Amino acid sequence: NGSFDVIRGGSERMDTQSQVVDRLRSAFHSGVTIPEQFRRSQLTKLMSMIKDNEEQILKALHKDLAKPKFEAVLSEIDIVINELHHAMTNLKTWMQLEYVSKTLATKLDDCFVRREPLGVVLIIGPWNYPLQLLLIPMVGAIAAGNCVIIKPSEVSAATDCLMAELIPKYLSQDCYAVVRGGAEETKALLENHFDHIFYTGSQTVARSILQAASVHLTPVTLELGGKCPCIIHGRVSIAAAAYRLAWAKFFNAGQSCVAPDYVLCSPATRDALLPALCKVLEDFYSKEPQTCPDYSRIVSPRHWTRLIELLKRSKGKVAMGGQSDQEDKYIAPTVVVDVAEDDALMKEEIFGPILPILTVESLEESIKFVNRREKPLALYVFSDESSVVDTVLKNTSSGGFCSNDGIIHMTLPGLPFGGVGASGWGSYHGRWGFETFSHRRACMLRGWALERLNGLRYPPYTETKLSW
Ligand code: NAD
Repeated sequence: NGSFDVIRGGSERMDTQSQVVDRLRSAFHSGVTIPEQFRRSQLTKLMSMIKDNEEQILKALHKDLAKPKFEAVLSEIDIVINELHHAMTNLKTWMQLEYVSKTLATKLDDCFVRREPLGVVLIIGPWNYPLQLLLIPMVGAIAAGNCVIIKPSEVSAATDCLMAELIPKYLSQDCYAVVRGGAEETKALLENHFDHIFYTGSQTVARSILQAASVHLTPVTLELGGKCPCIIHGRVSIAAAAYRLAWAKFFNAGQSCVAPDYVLCSPATRDALLPALCKVLEDFYSKEPQTCPDYSRIVSPRHWTRLIELLKRSKGKVAMGGQSDQEDKYIAPTVVVDVAEDDALMKEEIFGPILPILTVESLEESIKFVNRREKPLALYVFSDESSVVDTVLKNTSSGGFCSNDGIIHMTLPGLPFGGVGASGWGSYHGRWGFETFSHRRACMLRGWALERLNGLRYPPYTETKLSW
């Protein structure tokens, strides 16, 4: 381990992985990250890093995914800035001791929960929102007083490179570092001892992360994916539903962990939805989405091929879209109908611009369908009827839940973001991120008073003591 290079300080000097971990560990032990003022100053510098380099960030995101400027600002830049504001506004409160209620026997003691940083933490990011999914967890980790290594995804290479250049320029190099590399480098990095591993990515890789973490018994947060259903039922404003569904699905060309993966609705709703979706897609991206600057590309040739294969293997009927261009990593916004439960499109998370619509006869059938599968990261229900929303909410489980819209629930720092079961362990955003990267230390500060009372619990355990 440690035989390859890690950028340090944007300078020419290279450290091995284990040297980086050691450097951060000494900084952590020095206590430098503990004062509120230090955490605040680093969060402020992270804010400056984003603001000073907005153009470069937008360029990198465009290079990686052809991310439209609007989507990049909304889902990568502003969301991180909001998280930073939220953390800086609330940091003092989050850091306060939490006094708990006491019993008669502890009346004279100070009993409180103290949030303490965990130490040196590792954040491993994916490629689909390569800035947001590294920096939002990092905000929580810095706010909680940890030293942090971030490992961006090598697949979003331009953003990866930019992070490695910018982070050391702005943040303390003793406390924070970027380690670069793909699967092999990450595996080697994981041989080091961390105090927490925060992983965002696929379920398959999550298993190797867990194995590596088990060696050091390192606690892990897993932010994974899965198939997020969208149930459309009862009275519903079809035009509005089509806009919101299409936006949530085709934002970032469907490469969002919380994108609606498939739709469940009645045959009548499907028949009304199809022309509405057709109109929306034309409104959004024109008749030729490939020429539209507001539509992203698939991140890599490997993912492009995976999606095209999925489409080929599907027995469903392409109702809209279906065009593709390998050279351009383009796949048109595509809607597939007549999709059965065992279709290729229903076997894995799609993570691209293909939307299967499955028909069911009742709300109960939709709920049973969802409950037969692994718990999703997000669950959406579209309906004008609050009883329908309520029924779905109370009879299903998912990481997050949103009615009559998609994706948008994750923009609120007050709501925890994370999965349940196979869609992830743990959560973050806002206070939840601070908690994820903190240890809640149970503290009782006692004096020497009332020692005679303590006599009641010391041996010999006489009958009188028992009856007391
Ligand atoms: P991925 O698992 O392939 O890669 C994620 C990270 O893991 C990268 O940094 C990569 O370098 C590293 N990695 C890859 N193979 C590894 C290995 N064998 N050992 C150690 N590290 C390894 O995931 P991805 O393709 O980048 O992301 C797609 C998946 O992530 C989807 O399933 C999606 O739903 C999920 N996701 C979840 C969230 C969320 O917040 N819950 C957000 C975005 C993406």
